[in-house]
Amino acid sequence: MKFGGSSVGDAQRIKNLAGLVNPNENTIVVLSAMSGMTDRLNDISGYARDGKYSLCVTRLIETAEYFKNTAINLFDDNDELNSAWQFITGSFDKLIDLVEKPWSQRSEYKLVSSGELITCQLAFRYFRSIGWDCGYLCATDYMTGDQYEPDYSATSKKLIELMANSENHNLYFTEGFICRNNENEVSNLGRGGSDFSATIIGSLLGASVIEIWSDRDGLLNNDPRFVSNTFPVENLTYREAEELAYFGAKILHPNSIEPAKRTGIPILLKNTFNPNAKGTLVYTDAMADEYKAVAAKDWVTAIKVHSGRMMNSYGFVNKIFEVFDKYRTPIDVITTSEVSVSITIDNIRYKDEIINELNRLGQTETFENQVIICVVGNFDTNTGEKLSSIFGSLGEIPVKMISFGSSRTNLTFITDSEYKSRILNILNQTLFHKKPCLAQNRF
Ligand code: ASP
Ligand code: MG
Repeated sequence: MKFGGSSVGDAQRIKNLAGLVNPNENTIVVLSAMSGMTDRLNDISGYARDGKYSLCVTRLIETAEYFKNTAINLFDDNDELNSAWQFITGSFDKLIDLVEKPWSQRSEYKLVSSGELITCQLAFRYFRSIGWDCGYLCATDYMTGDQYEPDYSATSKKLIELMANSENHNLYFTEGFICRNNENEVSNLGRGGSDFSATIIGSLLGASVIEIWSDRDGLLNNDPRFVSNTFPVENLTYREAEELAYFGAKILHPNSIEPAKRTGIPILLKNTFNPNAKGTLVYTDAMADEYKAVAAKDWVTAIKVHSGRMMNSYGFVNKIFEVFDKYRTPIDVITTSEVSVSITIDNIRYKDEIINELNRLGQTETFENQVIICVVGNFDTNTGEKLSSIFGSLGEIPVKMISFGSSRTNLTFITDSEYKSRILNILNQTLFHKKPCLAQNRF
C-alpha cells in the first residue's frame, strides 16, 4: 500500500492510516514525504546551489520545526516524542553541515531524501507506539537505481536479504521515492517516484495487489478542471493506464505501471479521503469494448520536417531521431508521411539547437502552444465508426497531427492549445454521455 503526500500530510492524517491498513495482513506500507515537503527541500537545494547559506539554514530550521510539531501532535508518550525529536534534530544537524559544503547533484539527492526518511520514521514510530506489531525497512538499504532506472535484480536480492534478516512482522513501513545508486550514493527514482517504489516492491515480492492511495477517487475519465461531469474509470488495462498516466493524470506515475504489468499484479487506485469509493483497478490486457478516458497535455511544441529526400530512402527518420537523441529530448508523438515527419516535444530546452540541425535535413516548421489530446479505449472493433464520431464531433476545429497506432488503445491528435477545453467538453459529451455534439453548434 502506498500513501501519497496528502495522505500523510499532517499528524491526524498519519493517525488515520489506522483505518485503512490492516496490521494483521502481510503488507508493506510505502510512504511519500508529507505534502509539499519535496518541493520545499528542492527549494532549499536551489539556495544551497546559489551559495545562500544563511537562507538554507533558516529554511532547514523551519522545516525541522514543522516535523517536530507533527511529532508533538502524534505522540502522547514523552519518551516516544523525545526520541522522534532526537531523530529529527540529528537529521537536520547533518543537513546543516551538508549545505555548508560545495553543492552537487548528490548533495541535493541527500537533502531531498530526508522528506521521505523523516515522514516514514514518524509514521512507523507512531504505529509502533500504539502497539502495532510492525517493522521498518529503510529504502536506502535495498532500493537500488537512479532517476527512473531501478536495478531490479540488485533491489530484489537486497530486499529479500533485508527481510530475511529482520525480525518477522506482518507489516513493514518503508520510504517511497528514495534509493541508492550503484555507487552506493543516496539517490531517488525521480519526482513522483513513490508510486514506482510501490510497484517495484509489490512486483518483486509477488504481492496480490498494489494499492496506491491518493486524494482522488481513481483515474477520472476526463479533466475535472475543464469538464464538469467527470467520473472515475472503474477498470483500465495496463496499457490504457500507461497512456493516461503519461498524459498528466497526476495520480499515478507513468513508469510505475511497467513492474506491475510485467508480473501481472493488479494496481488499485484508492482515495484516502473517500475509502468507500471503488477506485480504479488497473489489470490485464483484455479490453472491454468501450471508451475509457480522454486526457490532454498542453504547452507542447510540434516540429514538422519536410524533405523530398525522404521518398524511397532509408535512414532518414533515423537521422531525425539522432538529433533529438543528441539533445536528450524525448519525443511524445510522431507522425510520418512519404515526405514529412512531424514530432511533438514537451521539453523545449534545446529547441533552437534541434531546429538548427533539423534544418540541414529538410524544411522545418514549428508550432508552439499545441495540445495533445488522447482518447483511450478499445479501438479494435467498429474502428471507422469510432474515429468518425470523434472527428465528426470536432467540426471546424483544425487538427494538425493524428496518431493511431497498432496498439489500438489510443487515438492521439494535436491541435492548438486554445481548443483544449472545448475539445475535452465535446468529447465528454460524445463519448461518455452519448449525445452527438457538433463543435460549431454547441460552443
Ligand atoms: N516526495 C516525492 C515527490 O514529491 C515522491 C513522491 O511523492 O512520489 O516527488
Ligand atoms: Mg504522486
